[in-house]
Amino acid sequence: MNDSPAPATLTTAPRVRFAPSPTGFFHVGSARTALYNWLYAEANGGTFILRIEDTDEERGRQEWLDGIIEALHWLSLEPFEGPYRQSERQGLYEQALSRLFEEGWLYGCNCSRDEVVERTRHNKIPGYDGKCRDLGLPREGNALRFRIPTGGTTTVHDLVRGDVEFPHDAMEDFVVAKSNGNPLFILANVVDDIDMNMTHVIRGEDLLPSTPKGILLWQALEGSGACLPAFAHLPMLVNEKRQKLSKRRDPVSLDTFREQGFLPEAMVNYLALLGWSDPQGRELLSRAELVGSFSIDRVNHAPAFFDVAKLTHMNGEHIRALDAERFAGVALDWLRTADVPWEWADFDMGLFSGMVPLVIERVTTLGEVVPMVDFLFTKNVVFDEDSLERVRRETAAAAVLRQARSRYETCAWSAGELHQVTQEIAEAEGMKLGRAQAPVRVAITGRRVGPPLFDSMALLARDVVLSRLDALIAVLGS
Ligand code: GLU
Repeated sequence: MNDSPAPATLTTAPRVRFAPSPTGFFHVGSARTALYNWLYAEANGGTFILRIEDTDEERGRQEWLDGIIEALHWLSLEPFEGPYRQSERQGLYEQALSRLFEEGWLYGCNCSRDEVVERTRHNKIPGYDGKCRDLGLPREGNALRFRIPTGGTTTVHDLVRGDVEFPHDAMEDFVVAKSNGNPLFILANVVDDIDMNMTHVIRGEDLLPSTPKGILLWQALEGSGACLPAFAHLPMLVNEKRQKLSKRRDPVSLDTFREQGFLPEAMVNYLALLGWSDPQGRELLSRAELVGSFSIDRVNHAPAFFDVAKLTHMNGEHIRALDAERFAGVALDWLRTADVPWEWADFDMGLFSGMVPLVIERVTTLGEVVPMVDFLFTKNVVFDEDSLERVRRETAAAAVLRQARSRYETCAWSAGELHQVTQEIAEAEGMKLGRAQAPVRVAITGRRVGPPLFDSMALLARDVVLSRLDALIAVLGS
């Protein structure tokens, strides 16, 4: 009894939705849900809809709504329809509530939350005890609860988890509208899924417990033979300790990754693998390859480890898949939004382009580009303290720098020649090239480590290099 029918075989193009509530920053889990819906629509000639579930006025904020739209835009997951906003569709929920109330599916309840807790604390079945079920309280001024059928089971036929059964005896009569008449999430969600002809509900596993309630509401609104959408509940995301990702503990805000210089295509690639795997076992996938091979039947129900190290590695791979010109463009766009240590008036595109081949092989995020190129555009090199300290401890540093100063003044200005000359200085001092090179690198870039020194140095004008050597010689002398 009341066992929900399996979804009818799909004969029309799928309609799927991403239905976030704008209640905070955009979470990587939300991005994964949006992506799976988008991929499913793309792969099956369907429609991807964006619906903003903003019925909770107190919590919804415009900036969070903007954040959702921007995040989807950044990931190139543009909705084919929408955004629809639930706050603009209240009339529809009102109609559904009136109908359900008149037909006896809903009843008025005036119990406060505290009363319910107090009354039911020793009950075997948690939740509301049905006190107002048969009191015939009016709609106005009361919360509305859904009358769960006695006996029977609602089965969620989940494409990821198989059949999940929810015995009605263990379900409480849940609230669908507050006493001020405002509909709750579960009601608006189902009314919209019906109204928008959703064929699939693909969303996080945290929503699975509300799905049997949604199915009962759906059947109350559409009749027990209603054609339900297919459900797919995506696996939870966990950290390395197998704990559910938490805002406080884990890096979960999509913006943080964007700010650190992750590429959207790497993010999309990595998010796709959080629960799904490619039938050919590939990990590095372009968007077109994802669309070509994505299917719900390869989504696993086991929790997916959100591995920042793996994401970072993958980002490096996507960076290296760009050609130099494209990388320069992408990096520059990103740098313009970042906090950089140079004045943009001093920026030189020619120098930057010259540096690109040296940098592209060595970074995993665009953020790592900054300390590799800043020496090109900063007027006065700022010495990293630790690096300077090491130079001070190198007894031969001043001698090396002075010799470099004199040889660089006249040598041919190329990476090969600078290398050769520095090699000779090292030999004269009886040291390895690396050791001789270290103080020169600090003079030119401010740091002990960085991209290949002689290629980097050759990009700068001779007089700039000489004056930087002078500056460090002066610091060591003081
Ligand atoms: N608005 C719900 C949430 O953000 C999601 C609803 C759904 O996907 O069905 O948790």
